[in-house]
Amino acid sequence: MVSVTLERVTKSYGDVVAVKDVSIKVERGELLVILGPSGCGKTTTLRIIAGLERPDSGRVFFDEVDVTEVPANKRGVAMVFQSYAIWPHMIVYDNIALPLRLKGLRDDEIKRRVREVAEMLKIEHLLSRYPHQLSGGERQRVAVARAIAFNPKVLLMDEPLSNLDALLRLHARAEIKKLQRKLNMTTIYVTHDQIEAMVLADRIAVMNRGVIQQIGSPDEVYNKPANIFVAEFIGTPPMNLFKAKVEDNALIAGDLKIQIPQHLSKALGNLWGKTVAVGIRPEHVHLGEKPIEPDLVQLKGVVELVENLGSEEIIHVRIGDILLKAKHSGKLSTKEGLVKININIRNLHIFDLEEGTRIT
Ligand code: ATP
Repeated sequence: MVSVTLERVTKSYGDVVAVKDVSIKVERGELLVILGPSGCGKTTTLRIIAGLERPDSGRVFFDEVDVTEVPANKRGVAMVFQSYAIWPHMIVYDNIALPLRLKGLRDDEIKRRVREVAEMLKIEHLLSRYPHQLSGGERQRVAVARAIAFNPKVLLMDEPLSNLDALLRLHARAEIKKLQRKLNMTTIYVTHDQIEAMVLADRIAVMNRGVIQQIGSPDEVYNKPANIFVAEFIGTPPMNLFKAKVEDNALIAGDLKIQIPQHLSKALGNLWGKTVAVGIRPEHVHLGEKPIEPDLVQLKGVVELVENLGSEEIIHVRIGDILLKAKHSGKLSTKEGLVKININIRNLHIFDLEEGTRIT
């Protein structure tokens, strides 16, 4: 097991800058998730760590060793792909055993390792089957077993669950989390699924257009998104965002007026007269009667739509031009018409409109 450091790594394909000036340090035994939309450079980053792509500039280190020029087969990494990439003409046992044979391990050691990982992944009964005799979930477990049996310095996973149906995905991600904890293996996991990232990661690196937007624990990226992109990308439904002018010691957006409290006035002091982006998570928009308390702003809105998700509701409320989504567990008595909206100012996120960066 090693730590992995990317130092100012850049990679372009023709005019497309796939990865731009990326610096990350993944600690030994850590599970880092690289999260971002399709085409943002996640797979390229992973392939650079694996040694399958050479960066145009920047360095890659395993612990303190510079591996930038070391070929993939000498890096000691294992990779699990979305397509699993298990060999169709070999039974499961041989699929897991082959990389170990290539590594030159003795037969009895290979047998021991295959049995051990098969037990760990609950595929002992499948060892003599061919891949076409397996379900998608089973194939995925074989691919993970093969990677782990190799005892890699770093385990790289590229959307390994995306071919599974929704229910199996939930199960498989919990299994991966448990396994990674047990093995304490340095793991870098790529996904575009923000919930998967939140559930699995020790830390998340959020990426967009080849650039790392923020690296932090799931709580950090959720509670203190570094910019508008991260704020909108993480959370279901996404954070409500609207433009507001900083004026008369208040945030003003049409009919909505929120008095700026003392703790924010310093941060917003140099923004008087300017327009900012204000964010509030749907679970922080509370509807109905609430006793007045410090920092609580009470507004009036109109319910436009209620989405019933069974255990919770997503309620669309309109305040003039602004549409807010509120996440409400249980059932709300008001289904239409006027409703009181309660927002605690401490739950507001304020971003610079031009740069997109967090102000407070
Ligand atoms: P996805 O989630 O869709 O797999 P990604 O975030 O993994 O996307 P990459 O596969 O790293 O993104 O691609 C980043 C950018 O680089 C994309 O614009 C892609 O089209 C481009 N790209 C990747 N590989 C190549 C290549 N071999 N030749 C040309 N362009 C490439």
